[in-house]
Amino acid sequence: MRESMQFDVIIVGAGPAGLSAAIRLAQLNQHLSICVLEKGAEVGAPILSGAVIEPRALQELIPDWQQKNAPLYTPVTEDQFLYLTEKKSYRLPTPPQMQNQGNYIISLSQFCRWLASQAESLGVNIFPSFAATAILYDDQNNVIGVTTGDKGVDRQGNPTPRFQPGLDLFAKQTFFAEGCRGSLTQTLFKHYDLRQQCNPQTYGLGIKELWEIPEEHHQTGHVIHSIGWPLDHRTYGGSFLYYFDKKYLAIGFVVGLDYSNPYLNPYEEFQRFKTHDAIRPHLEKAKRISYGARALNEGGYQSIPQLTFPGGLLIGCAAGFLNVPKIKGIHTAMKSGMLAAESIIGLLENTTQKECKAYATNIYKSWIADELYRARNIRPAMNWGTWPGLLYAALDTYVFRGKAPWTLRNHADNLQLKYADTCSMIEYPKHDNKITFDLMSSVFLTNSIHEENQPCHLKLLDPHVPIDINLRYYASPEQRYCPAGVYEIIYDEKNMPRLHIHAANCIQCKACDIKDPTQNIVWVPPEGGSGPQYTLM
Ligand SMILES: Cc1cc2nc3c(=O)[nH]c(=O)nc-3n(C[C@H](O)[C@H](O)[C@H](O)COP(=O)(O)OP(=O)(O)OC[C@H]3O[C@@H](n4cnc5c(N)ncnc54)[C@H](O)[C@@H]3O)c2cc1C
Ligand code: SF4
Repeated sequence: MRESMQFDVIIVGAGPAGLSAAIRLAQLNQHLSICVLEKGAEVGAPILSGAVIEPRALQELIPDWQQKNAPLYTPVTEDQFLYLTEKKSYRLPTPPQMQNQGNYIISLSQFCRWLASQAESLGVNIFPSFAATAILYDDQNNVIGVTTGDKGVDRQGNPTPRFQPGLDLFAKQTFFAEGCRGSLTQTLFKHYDLRQQCNPQTYGLGIKELWEIPEEHHQTGHVIHSIGWPLDHRTYGGSFLYYFDKKYLAIGFVVGLDYSNPYLNPYEEFQRFKTHDAIRPHLEKAKRISYGARALNEGGYQSIPQLTFPGGLLIGCAAGFLNVPKIKGIHTAMKSGMLAAESIIGLLENTTQKECKAYATNIYKSWIADELYRARNIRPAMNWGTWPGLLYAALDTYVFRGKAPWTLRNHADNLQLKYADTCSMIEYPKHDNKITFDLMSSVFLTNSIHEENQPCHLKLLDPHVPIDINLRYYASPEQRYCPAGVYEIIYDEKNMPRLHIHAANCIQCKACDIKDPTQNIVWVPPEGGSGPQYTLM
């Protein structure tokens, strides 16, 4: 028997978008029943970001955040923007979008735990370890809530002694705040055809490490970004180094998932990047303490889908509000959650109107739309190559000021891979276990938990595709783009290949759901509470 519960609003996902929406709803009406579902074992556990936060939305949401001890401890003190070649580095003028005066370096998982404590103090119910796995519709095609996944089910789908059925949770309105490439959000796109009017969403894969540095070598507040080496000029990507909290360095590398060479390995590109003469000295006195990866949206303004449907709406990176030239989506995620709360409040007592169209209107009137519109052409222009892209970005920023009378199109990432036999193999250097590390020792640092005997949460729509298409034409790119070594081609005694999926290694970055050439891999949430356990990412 499944139990059911009724709320005024259900929010799927306890990231900055979902928690800001919950806080604003509770601020507007303390009698509302608000439920936030989080698939991670605790709030913040699966959350990975850079992160430099622009505090604009936080200031609007909780003006006394400083008195309330929000974990924004490190103001940015210096910005550097580097162009790297294999042997050299050149300091370029920092583009206005990347200037961080007034911003803070944070751990997003830590910040989300603080937001959760603020929400709970206002009476919001937060349920960690509960993954929303399906959407409930009524017979008029309205979203009326979600179901959470069963726990204690074995690999074949049978109940084990620790079986607990999922819950049916009903609400007047459901907010989907699942972050980039949300699994239920993907089903909503199809169910209501929400992407009919917009460009395809595009993505990057961000891989990050956290290093601990002796205080005497720490450069608190120092922010460095780079482009160029080790990526070739046709492949979009770059790095970030953020010194925070007097002892930590967040170092990461983002590779655009529209890369074309199936032999490219984003994890190895990141390892190689750390060996550059301009980067290695930052790590030589330091110790690596954490690792993780997560996809981020790069589509921007022209990839924003229809935001509402009867009974619910999309907020944060589920909708795609990240500002790519800024590499920032926390402030827009928070603001979109706040706007959703403010837009919905009158509708909750209205039994006839189910779709909150005012939310979309308010988004397009807000500073979110303004900043995304101005930035909209910069990422697509990088498809022309690094230098033409940079030149265009300068023209767009300084001459057109973001108001050029055209909008460049985005293309679907999964369609960009070339056949392996038309591409060169890439040889990556050996790891030295000081600055560069093998993949499995990195995955160990994600502290992932995953009940091994549960159904595989990486679904193959057609089990033949990994061999008949992916191996045959693309040399099995999933073996390289997965930053956790989940996919492996194994040969049996008759030398016949098959794809083995090490699902327990999955760190929930969503790259496979995005980059698989025929979209044959579908990521669904594993048992609630599974996945990486980040504390300071
Ligand atoms: C490498 C990297 C660097 C970045 N750097 C910056 C930066 O410096 N500054 C900045 O502003 N932004 C940065 N971003 C972007 C920023 O992290 C995102 O824009 C922001 O986290 C989006 O917030 P969100 O609430 O929409 O989604 P998320 O933060 O992804 O949160 C979504 C939450 O929902 C949960 N969830 C998902 N599906 C379900 C489900 N079905 N059931 C229950 N729970 C679910 C997830 O576990 C997660 O906790 C970076 C992103 C990456 C990947
Ligand atoms: S299996 Fe997919 S979602 Fe999981 S870590 Fe690998 S690429 Fe990311």
